[in-house]
Amino acid sequence: MLQYLSTKEDREAFIDKYDNFLFDCDGVLWEGTNTFDGVAESMTLLREKGKRVFFVTNNSTKSRSSFLKKFEGFGIKAELEEVFSSAFATAAYLKHVLQFPEDKKVYIIGMDGIKDELAAEGIRSCGGEEDAGLTDNDSVPDDKEVGAVVIGLDTKVNYKKYSKAFAYLTRNPGCYFIVTNEDTTFPQHGSFYPGAGAIAAPIIAALGRHPDAVLGKPAQNMLEAIYAESHIDPKKTCMIGDRLDTDIEFGMNGGIDTLCVLTGITTKEQLLSPDNRIRSTYYMDSFGDFSK
Ligand code: PLP
Ligand code: CA
Repeated sequence: MLQYLSTKEDREAFIDKYDNFLFDCDGVLWEGTNTFDGVAESMTLLREKGKRVFFVTNNSTKSRSSFLKKFEGFGIKAELEEVFSSAFATAAYLKHVLQFPEDKKVYIIGMDGIKDELAAEGIRSCGGEEDAGLTDNDSVPDDKEVGAVVIGLDTKVNYKKYSKAFAYLTRNPGCYFIVTNEDTTFPQHGSFYPGAGAIAAPIIAALGRHPDAVLGKPAQNMLEAIYAESHIDPKKTCMIGDRLDTDIEFGMNGGIDTLCVLTGITTKEQLLSPDNRIRSTYYMDSFGDFSK
């Protein structure tokens, strides 16, 4: 039964029930470049009560250290080890799960966050934000060193980048196809823009197959990484998010309780619709309300 945390007493009882809180970022702590009222104070309150916090974002455009600067700018305390992003998860997956060979490199359609996280794991890459792709008369270069194509949000994506990615995936035997996250849209400047799921769609269509791996929520890779580092008890852990098919499904898949806030993607009407396949344990208007 979906419980509304409407009063101060409801919210205090909620905080007392859990030791660990996993936070989705965009839509819960901030929207783009603006933080929500009371967020920094609410985070301080949780820390003062000795709660552990982790930040779990599907945004692959920044490295973990760039995210720390964003937290700092909003006056929200965060440590590097508390931040889990889809770019970080992608690098960890290539390194530890696929044991990506040292003599291979990754072709990126995506922003610097992916390149930086791969570099932090010692994985070589090419392409990325500034890759202009081919010139009009070029054919796709044969580069047998490309052993994986990673696609995330790329605001400079173009047909030539797609042509390279497609060529590597079809010509290089065993070349992995990895998508950082499947968000079809993301919010910015009060509007919605095509997300990484939309950027990857043309390659999925051209190949006629799905990626070998998608790392962002609702996939469990970031939750597994959190458990590996911190041994938290799932029964004492709650995931706080704004989107049902990423954040709340992520918590549900991991068997942890979930709180949906209404400062992001999901409207109250959508949340309360009887047709929902995905249901949170709780909802409240804004995470910032904990400090009120
Ligand atoms: N992907 C991109 C490119 C984004 O900019 C955002 C939010 O800003 C997201 C995904 C969703 O991030 P989160 O999981 O923190 O809501
Ligand atoms: Ca979100």
